[in-house]
Amino acid sequence: MEEIEHSIPRSHPRYHSLITRERLVKGFYEGIVVPQGLIAHGRGECFDYLIGEKTIPPARKAIRAAAALLLLARYPVISVNGNTAVLAGKDIVELAKVLGAAIEVNLFYRTRERAVKIAKLLKMYGAEKVYGVDDATMRIPGLEHPRGLVSPNGIWKADVVLVALEDGDRTQALRKLGKKVIAIDLNPLSRTALSADITIVDNVIRAVPLLVEEVKKLKNMDKIQLQQIISSYNNLEVLRETLNYIFDRLKSLAENNLKQLVKEVGV
Ligand code: ATP
Ligand code: MG
Repeated sequence: MEEIEHSIPRSHPRYHSLITRERLVKGFYEGIVVPQGLIAHGRGECFDYLIGEKTIPPARKAIRAAAALLLLARYPVISVNGNTAVLAGKDIVELAKVLGAAIEVNLFYRTRERAVKIAKLLKMYGAEKVYGVDDATMRIPGLEHPRGLVSPNGIWKADVVLVALEDGDRTQALRKLGKKVIAIDLNPLSRTALSADITIVDNVIRAVPLLVEEVKKLKNMDKIQLQQIISSYNNLEVLRETLNYIFDRLKSLAENNLKQLVKEVGV
């Protein structure tokens, strides 16, 4: 990682974005990230550009509701794939610790070798137990192939599942199993975003640390107050606010600020 950081000048205007890409490429060569994951990241980057590469107000609302739901959960599970492990692994382990939640490796392109590597990385960050490596013996109904496999002691047992960069099919299948799903997804129009109970439209790199902070903040609230946060939350409304945020931002750029932006780019 240090070598990568040295090879990209800090002064580069897209420094953080380039470092993130390098981390994923490194994860790819290490066998943690699949090539499809690199493409998925590109789709995410595009939406990150549209929201201005920062956590926007509707995402903050979703993070608050997500923290409340996770705190009220009987058995919360954090589902981790290759991209998430590389981009937010350390914060995910912290989130699991503050919540007392389980972590499960859950892969769309599942191989045992990759699951082992992801679990190893999470353990290096301090995770004590990682489900989903050799114990993914239950199948989510309707999902054929190894992508539908989950652990009986992890996602299978969960009442609330946090997923990131998830596929729409699987999100819907988890909901059909009666689970509450919290999704972190930069695309407010993905099937995942549209079918989750709570959708955090933000980069997983920013969202997970914010979620940790929020859980710490709400940890001492009583159950009734946490319930109130959840019952006053409306995911459809939050998605609408997100689309309006993007719409207003683009409109303001097009109408007033494009000249300024061109100047800032330095042409
Ligand atoms: P869906 O199956 O839900 O319709 P999709 O097929 O468009 O989504 P997938 O490849 O299944 O996309 O899932 C990847 C999702 O993760 C995309 O919606 C993408 O925008 C999002 N994504 C990519 N990188 C990040 C990131 N760093 N943080 C949050 N979301 C991301
Ligand atoms: Mg998909």
